[in-house]
Amino acid sequence: MSLIVVGTMAFDAIETPFGESGRIVGGSATYLAWSASNFVKPVNQISVIGEDFPESELSALAGRGVHLEGVQRKMGQKSFFWAGRYHMDMNTRDTLDTQLNVLADFNPVVPDSYQGSEFLMLGNLMPSLQLSVIRQLKQRPRLIVMDTMNFWMDIAMDDLLVTLREVDVLMVNDSEARQLSGEFSLVKAAKAIRKMGPRFLVIKKGEHGALLFHEDQVFFAPALPLEDVFDPTGAGDTFAGGFIGHLAATRDISFDNMKSAIIKGSALASFCVEKFGTSRMKEISAADIDQRIQQFVDLVNFEITLAG
Ligand code: AMP
Repeated sequence: MSLIVVGTMAFDAIETPFGESGRIVGGSATYLAWSASNFVKPVNQISVIGEDFPESELSALAGRGVHLEGVQRKMGQKSFFWAGRYHMDMNTRDTLDTQLNVLADFNPVVPDSYQGSEFLMLGNLMPSLQLSVIRQLKQRPRLIVMDTMNFWMDIAMDDLLVTLREVDVLMVNDSEARQLSGEFSLVKAAKAIRKMGPRFLVIKKGEHGALLFHEDQVFFAPALPLEDVFDPTGAGDTFAGGFIGHLAATRDISFDNMKSAIIKGSALASFCVEKFGTSRMKEISAADIDQRIQQFVDLVNFEITLAG
């Protein structure tokens, strides 16, 4: 079981109706690694950081079994920076600032030691860079999962469409699925997006759960109703990390196993939102995760007698 994760390792500044984070560590690949490493080791990380990225964060990740050979550090430069503000419902957010910094001239290089990995998670990043990683792999991974966001649809749609042709699973939220497909109905959007390349499509709906589409099948997983949602940042990446981490650990890429993967991703995402940044992800144990998965099972389990 081997997994490559690609994405940003960043500084974020988050405003929610409940408080401001100040400058904290974030980034798609950071959340992905914290999440996937609950199920699979090593996580072969590919990213870029500036001189300002804390050494302590790197050693914490290394301690979790995350390989950092593919993380380039650019001395004298600043890490990627993103600032966002959540609305009262916490499902919608505005990007206040995106400073590419080291990302602007990033050329990901896949280390030799990562070659032969069976699973590839393309976290949110420029689509051309996601594609460059795919092209560097001498052997195509068994499963390529891709995350993206409206930001790249706005400024790099052509590259995004080229990259989409190469992936097996796409993960987007509902508004991004609508933007990408031009369809309001998520069923129609799923059909249109699957024609663009991915055989599987996951549409995330925040506190309303997630849908998995494949051929004529669809599976729905709820999100756990939480008493306190403090900061949704990274929930999507944490979900994706749990999803691919489970698939990589079990080495089973069937639709049925993807259902379990979605539940595991949802369970991890439910922890992520309980505190700012990755702080909650650093605290949880395997027992905590199991307990939460059981809550998911209880949430949707019922018996019913059919009318006929
Ligand atoms: P999520 O809430 O799961 O969508 O992910 C939030 C994380 O994505 C934050 O920690 C940001 O640093 C990172 N991020 C924000 N915008 C971008 C972008 N355009 N490309 C890559 N990563 C981003």
